[in-house]
Amino acid sequence: MSDKVLRARVLTFFERPDSLDDESCYAFWEDGAVVTDGGRIAWRGNFSDLPEAYRTLPVTDHRPGILMPGFIDTHAHFAQMGVIASYGAQLLDWLHGYTFVQEALFEDEAHAQSIAACYLDEILRHGVTTSVVYGTSHKTAMDAFFAEAEARGLCMIAGKVLMDRNAPGNLLDTSQSGYDDSRRLIDTWHGRGRLHYAVTPRFAITCSEAQLDLAGTLMRETPDVFLQTHLCENRSEIEETARLFPGARDYLDVYESNGLLGPRSLFGHCIHLEPRERTALKESRSVAVFCPTSNLFLGSGLFDYETLTESGVRVALATDVGAGTSYSMLATASEAYKVSQLCGYSLNPLESFYLLTLGNARALSMEDRIGALEAGSDADLIVVDSQATSAMRTRMQSSSSLTDELFVLQTLGDDRCIAATYIAGERLK
Ligand SMILES: [Zn+2]
Repeated sequence: MSDKVLRARVLTFFERPDSLDDESCYAFWEDGAVVTDGGRIAWRGNFSDLPEAYRTLPVTDHRPGILMPGFIDTHAHFAQMGVIASYGAQLLDWLHGYTFVQEALFEDEAHAQSIAACYLDEILRHGVTTSVVYGTSHKTAMDAFFAEAEARGLCMIAGKVLMDRNAPGNLLDTSQSGYDDSRRLIDTWHGRGRLHYAVTPRFAITCSEAQLDLAGTLMRETPDVFLQTHLCENRSEIEETARLFPGARDYLDVYESNGLLGPRSLFGHCIHLEPRERTALKESRSVAVFCPTSNLFLGSGLFDYETLTESGVRVALATDVGAGTSYSMLATASEAYKVSQLCGYSLNPLESFYLLTLGNARALSMEDRIGALEAGSDADLIVVDSQATSAMRTRMQSSSSLTDELFVLQTLGDDRCIAATYIAGERLK
């Protein structure tokens, strides 16, 4: 963790931008610098203003790359690397035809360890430095995932899937074994280094009332764990949930009545919400997670970003690999733009890059550690190159503003644009 100066064009956000002209929401230094010290950010600003104390440190010059906080992915399934890009299914068929078959392989701890390593290396190549991850129903697969994350020094949030019905027998836990395994994983990994646990009921269809009740118990026992699950993704899923929970007011009520809403609760998809559900998400300060590549790929529907944000619901952006089709948060932002276009809203590129960094950090209530370049924050950083391909170089010849450059990056960019990834100040790409 040696101290160093990273010289680059430097970008960091302070607030959610409300327009393309909103220059108060971010800082951008055309010739900037970030000083890292012991894995944290010690200083950032104009290179020419570098304090005397740092002037003898080694300098890495990343110009004309843009140095910014590492991207944050708020919903992904590491065990689905083997089924990403699988043809021809909507949600429920996709789960039974592809996902459950693949997830059964994770009973083998060596397999789980190998895919966990592969997943983490892949996201680091894409400039994703924190991810919120679903495992499988196997405790040992989660132990393997956390161990691989710890070995890389990563800030990760993850949890074992709870699933005690309506899935193949070899993948089911019981409400009690699911509780016990989650409890042991929390005791071992939550708060260890930079790791955090998320209680992870897969979704209402695969969880009995008893299992959801015990998920609520886990959250009450350890109030700073996260919760992650799926909500209102697909019409058939919503109908089946209503059939399984005839007493519930709506889909969200299945979770709400078991105490699963709150500021650390992340609900993937939230496409087909009733007005009451929107209000309950807002009032509980729960987070709706927008997964555009997945929603398009499975034909699930269009996430109404404008309505949700204007109603005061906290929103985050995510890949949902492997129903999501890209590990790249740039591609994810690009698809979020297109989905929003279909809803009549032009998501502006400042807002996209805010979401990929500070916005997603705020959705995780972790903005004091990640998502912004502030003194004392963890030095999880990336350098983004908007001229990584010949097509981008050609397009950039007619670009004259930061907002246009960011839009080119999200629309044409991919892992080739991630010139460097730093974790706690150490370069991993
Ligand atoms: Zn998912």
